[in-house]
Amino acid sequence: MTDESEKNIVQTVRGSISPDKLGSTMTHEHLIIDFSMMLREPRDPNDIEMMDAPVTMENLGWISQYCYSNKDNLLVTDEQTAISECIQYKKMGGGTIVDATTLGIGRNPEALARISKASSVNIVMGAGYYVDAAQPSDVNKLTEDQIAEQIYIEITQGVGESGIKAGIIGEIGCTWPLTTNEIKILRASAAAQSQSGASILIHPGRHETAPEEILGILKESGADLTRVIMGHLDRTVDSIEILKQIAESGCTLEWDLFGNEVSYYQPSNFDMPSDAQRLEYIRIMLDDGLQDRIVVAHDICTKHRLTKYGGHGYGHFIAHVVPRMVEKGFTDAEIYSITDLNPRRLLTI
Ligand SMILES: [Zn+2]
Repeated sequence: MTDESEKNIVQTVRGSISPDKLGSTMTHEHLIIDFSMMLREPRDPNDIEMMDAPVTMENLGWISQYCYSNKDNLLVTDEQTAISECIQYKKMGGGTIVDATTLGIGRNPEALARISKASSVNIVMGAGYYVDAAQPSDVNKLTEDQIAEQIYIEITQGVGESGIKAGIIGEIGCTWPLTTNEIKILRASAAAQSQSGASILIHPGRHETAPEEILGILKESGADLTRVIMGHLDRTVDSIEILKQIAESGCTLEWDLFGNEVSYYQPSNFDMPSDAQRLEYIRIMLDDGLQDRIVVAHDICTKHRLTKYGGHGYGHFIAHVVPRMVEKGFTDAEIYSITDLNPRRLLTI
């Protein structure tokens, strides 16, 4: 059970802080990530040499469309870059970033602690595993209870000897259809949530029925769905009816690909929405009474979306989307709920 002394705190990589210190919070980003597992050959075989090219101004336009076909682009591993991107985020009004990097894609607790210290941005680290294809082979041998225990220890005692604690469970990676290991990890996440009180952040498989299937498994396993964030809705569900069904579970809806306006989305044949279209979905959900259950982010996991490489950076939502929301008639209270209050509720343990 949750220790009485640990109630009502947010667990950052530099220790627990009071929830009212979070400020504007992006709930799904990656500051340090090795996303090489996503590498795929270019659509056009004539572009094959682009896979090994370093990211440059000359190929940035191409990489923006085919971001998973360039090896260099998938390595977001430089701490100094992360520090300067975080300093910019802070200047643009940002307060906190959830680093959703889990096991299998290069989570680095010590680096996150140093980035937070150097930039003064609060960083909340994730626990658990990414999708099956990224998981280390020992996951096959681990039982549901062992994984739940591992996640619980990372939240309450920290990762290994580092003492750096996770503050959220996830992003928990799911493919579609779900694999045996992914189901095991979802159940373990529910158990770890019951013990720790931490929220669960889900990366659903790329199919419109994936979120509800996942929520069903979490519910069956005793999860508190009011403390579950369903991520990546932007590239998963374009039906208002299905979005409303997902919301009926009690979970929080996350549009976390703001700034990603790619014409050719490589991992599926889903049409990536624009920021304006994301706001249309959010408007409909707000009108449906979901002001307390919407969060946003950019899910930056490639170089080309960092300001250093000509991208929009972690401050894009605050600097460029919020002013548009004001012009479109979103109220200050609605915006504040999305950027501040809802993340605060979900990150408070
Ligand atoms: Zn994800």
